[in-house]
Amino acid sequence: MSGKKYAAISIMLALAILLGACARTSPTAPAEHGKMLVVASINPLADFARQVGGDRVQVETVVPPGASPHTYEPKPSQLKALSRAKVLVLVGLGFEFWADKAVSASGNPDLIVVRTSNGLKILQQGGGEGSGNPHIWLDPINAIHQVEMIRDAFVRADPQGKEVYIANAEEYIGKLKALDKEIRKEVSGFSTRKFIAFHPAWVYFARRYDLEQVAVVERTPGREPSPAEIARIVQAARKAGVRAIFAEPQFSPKAARVIAQECGAQVLFLDPIGGVKSRETYIDLMHYNLEQMAKAMK
Ligand SMILES: [Zn+2]
Repeated sequence: MSGKKYAAISIMLALAILLGACARTSPTAPAEHGKMLVVASINPLADFARQVGGDRVQVETVVPPGASPHTYEPKPSQLKALSRAKVLVLVGLGFEFWADKAVSASGNPDLIVVRTSNGLKILQQGGGEGSGNPHIWLDPINAIHQVEMIRDAFVRADPQGKEVYIANAEEYIGKLKALDKEIRKEVSGFSTRKFIAFHPAWVYFARRYDLEQVAVVERTPGREPSPAEIARIVQAARKAGVRAIFAEPQFSPKAARVIAQECGAQVLFLDPIGGVKSRETYIDLMHYNLEQMAKAMK
């Protein structure tokens, strides 16, 4: 065999091996080779985990896009990843009502469970059963704390990636600080501070940016208001002179429409969860929400 021909065959063989290797790794593979498997309860936490973990992690989200984490009960098949995961990222406060059972069923004693609300000042308003309001991530300054907790958990789970996790977290925290400034600036131009939320998701946001939630459409998410409650909300809306009633894509906008019609306001959508086109990342999601608020309150 001539040297040239031999070289050509070697290259073809090498290519075939390479192609074979590529075909075996798909993004839906149970655990991408060499990557640390991380499970997050909701999309914003999954995004934080991706920002911190970069190429070193594969992140799966439990609550699918369009579902409400308040009511969504994950199927056992969706929790299978927990048996192989290194880290589970949660809000805590009982928000992930399925988590304790899922963790003990995972048969994974080394799983690191991060409750990112630990260490934050928790508001009670709108929380269920005295556990506090879980919507901490909608305040970007709280999000910084959550990112730091995820970073520390990743360092513990994968010490070899320490420098990467620290650098990624620092860079992303810089972006969250910029987002906070941007929101602050936009909100300072609002002509009203008052708004009517769909469910009590925006209390941390409101506290951070000095806005006032005067009423909510559904005090318990997923439970539509009674006629008497609707009448009270309409009255609050008229008194505050709100131009819009906020609905949310994870819930039926029916009650919000009824109220909006009664007081001559429009219906706009705020999205606490995202994970859908153009609202995939947390920062894109918050830009979207800021835009919607500006439409109603500027
Ligand atoms: Zn909620």
